[in-house]
Amino acid sequence: MCGIVAYAGTKNALSILLDGLQRLEYRGYDSAGIFISNPKKDAVLKVKGKVNELRLLCDKETKEELFPIGLGHTRWATHGKPNESNAHPHVSNNKELILVHNGIIENYETLKKDLIQRGYTFESDTDSEVLINLFEEIQKTQQVSLEAAVQIGLNKVIGAYGIVVFDKKKPHELIVARLGSPLAIGIGKNDFFVGSDATPFLEHTKEVVYLNDFEMARLSFGEDIQVSNFKENTQIKAIINQLTFDLEHIQKDGFDHFMLKEIFEQPKAIENSLRGRIDLLKEEVQLDSVQKHESIFKNTKRIIILGCGTSWHAGLVGEYLLEKFTRIPTEVEYASEFRYRDPIIHKDDLVIPISQSGETADTMAALKLAKDRGAFIFGICNVVGSSISRETDSGMYTHAGPEIGVASTKAFTTQITVLILLSLKIAALRNTIQASESKRLLDELIQIPDLISSFLKQISEIKEIAKIYHKASNMLYLGRGFNFPVALEGALKLKEISYIHAEGYPAAEMKHGPIALIDKEMPVIVIATKKGHYDKIVSNVQEIRSRGAKIISIVSSGDESIKKMSDHCIEIPESDEIFSPLFATIPLQLLSYYIAILRNCNVDQPRNLAKSVTVE
Ligand code: GLU
Repeated sequence: MCGIVAYAGTKNALSILLDGLQRLEYRGYDSAGIFISNPKKDAVLKVKGKVNELRLLCDKETKEELFPIGLGHTRWATHGKPNESNAHPHVSNNKELILVHNGIIENYETLKKDLIQRGYTFESDTDSEVLINLFEEIQKTQQVSLEAAVQIGLNKVIGAYGIVVFDKKKPHELIVARLGSPLAIGIGKNDFFVGSDATPFLEHTKEVVYLNDFEMARLSFGEDIQVSNFKENTQIKAIINQLTFDLEHIQKDGFDHFMLKEIFEQPKAIENSLRGRIDLLKEEVQLDSVQKHESIFKNTKRIIILGCGTSWHAGLVGEYLLEKFTRIPTEVEYASEFRYRDPIIHKDDLVIPISQSGETADTMAALKLAKDRGAFIFGICNVVGSSISRETDSGMYTHAGPEIGVASTKAFTTQITVLILLSLKIAALRNTIQASESKRLLDELIQIPDLISSFLKQISEIKEIAKIYHKASNMLYLGRGFNFPVALEGALKLKEISYIHAEGYPAAEMKHGPIALIDKEMPVIVIATKKGHYDKIVSNVQEIRSRGAKIISIVSSGDESIKKMSDHCIEIPESDEIFSPLFATIPLQLLSYYIAILRNCNVDQPRNLAKSVTVE
């Protein structure tokens, strides 16, 4: 995820690009760059860091000149560290074509290899640079315009993208295209604006064309916008919408809070976590980060997962997954405890630190300790180039996109997605899973984003439940097996944003203490999906019910037994037990959100909390 801005017209592109990028910084912020052009001069200017630093560089490098066309980008790295050479825009080998890209190109390695064989060189580690050289190659070999090259090229590309491309031979024209990453085109009186959303050009025009997937547009100064479908190579009539929203509304994509937006982004985020990591032909997980160190993963005797807060909960799911599939003994540790308790670490241990920001101080210290003692470190982070990702021997990014709400949502479900892939990959290397079983699970896994999308369309009953229980002082969350970490995460979400005291427990542990708390005032949330310990949890629900608790259950669709015993019931899609956390977490996030709203809490910035905990 990143921010894209572009302009073509008569005004000064430079200030429009810089102001626009600043407004898009909520989408990504690790590096920024622009390309600007006028008949006498053009320049690509890039910085590692924020748009403010880019502004300083532009002040130095450009005087009072007018640049009527340009493109800009604020990056949220997915491939290659956040540094100047990886920052966008990227320039083709012949220096004629310029591109900014938002998204991930899944087959970039294959395309890159082919281009290298044809003599192309690359200045960055990004997947994006491949695109611009692919367009150059098509232009050269097929003698076509940039517009035609983009149309042909995108049909060879697998992945997600929003792109803006410029050809020095056509200095008044921009070509834009989208598949999976948003692009809005502002239609001015005498000019065109492009943005990842409409915030960069709100004060210039209220007329917007939103590109749909597989659509591209030619924005040529002095002509009308030309929209086409690049898959079918057909012209489309541009539909112009009138903007009525304000800045904040657009940044939150129409949602009231970033947290809610991020809950709804989970299907896309999970899709991005899976992108390029499943070989659909061979029906197996494809992870270079594991394959490169095959012998370590084959021979390791023990896995230690390190994390804090939500990442620790994802780690617990990881423990269940890794032991189930790889048969390697796995432990999950709070990083803050691990680092101070003089733990036993062997040279053949595999240590997996998990952190959304990649900056969590305790996780960083714990991984350094393990590294000093010779363990192999495989990190799981969301932020590319973060401190933790730099300290590890190998690892996987979750590719969830920036998470702005302080309470983690899409970070959790994407960490689990990555742990599922990792477990299946290690199991395949160690021959502890049958190919048919792995195939069955992968088939189910790739359908999950769509199933979550459908679930997110029917959440009215969650709002109703929130209305009934938002005044509660305590809540209990219970689950077994893969749903036990979900119970912990559900309780944490409620505590974090609504300030209601909540506890997560393995359901069978109730009898060993917490059952004493149960009375008519205590809402109990039970996660009781069909696959995995269902009968056991039916008995647990009976025990709670007979003590008068109010029961809110999360069940697989079509469930009858637990539904009958519950005061309220939320149905989620039925799935293999290993996928249950990906579904069951979502209603719990929403319940916490709506309860917090009814209690007038600041959900995006809860009291006393910070997004990334960089102190002990
Ligand atoms: N995949 C591209 C990169 O890593 C684009 C990332 C983005 O959307 O910011 O540079």
